[in-house]
Amino acid sequence: MKQLIVATANKGKFGEIEEILKDFPLQLSSLHDIWDPVPQIPETGNTFFENACIKADWVFSKTSIWTLADDSGLEVDALNGEPGVRSARYAGEHSDIDNNNKLLKMLSGVPPKKRSARFRCVIVIKTETNTYITAEGCCEGTIAFGSEGSGGFGYDPLFIPKGFTKTFAQIGQGEKNIISHRAKALNSLREKLHVLFEK
Ligand code: IMP
Repeated sequence: MKQLIVATANKGKFGEIEEILKDFPLQLSSLHDIWDPVPQIPETGNTFFENACIKADWVFSKTSIWTLADDSGLEVDALNGEPGVRSARYAGEHSDIDNNNKLLKMLSGVPPKKRSARFRCVIVIKTETNTYITAEGCCEGTIAFGSEGSGGFGYDPLFIPKGFTKTFAQIGQGEKNIISHRAKALNSLREKLHVLFEK
């Protein structure tokens, strides 16, 4: 069994990653298993990839154990890819409601055809050889004209995935977990790990 630290303090995210990687010879621990209190690792990168690497490097530098880290966010075409890496703190301090209100304001007057957006997720695993295994997933969609639904988190009430008429906050976690950016990135990661472990 290879040890793997998942650099997240989010229990939901840890559970999702644990489930997807359960058939690999990996023993997963979260930041909670190692630190109390869990350290805040500053995400100062300009891209999702840089931020994921910063988190993975930080944990690896303290533990020398393989570390998985991810970073994700929303890219809105009419805003030149904003909020992007600033998704969590788009309106200042981290508040989903404020972020959603700011996004709606920034898009006021933008017609349906120009409200295209995507969630993007980048995952890296830093290995002892000092290289990264990387995977990425996107979920295309559009931004609604108002908040709809009470499920999920973040921008879910504003994001209508392509092929749907409801927002992520309305379609339910089960369906979201099949089509989401994170699910796609994790499935791509699975393929890379299969190649690695079957060598
Ligand atoms: P993190 O990389 O999981 O920390 O996500 C950064 C930010 O991107 C979150 O705080 C949300 O604002 C946004 N975000 C990422 N994934 C999702 C999602 O699946 N739904 C809604 N918002 C998301």
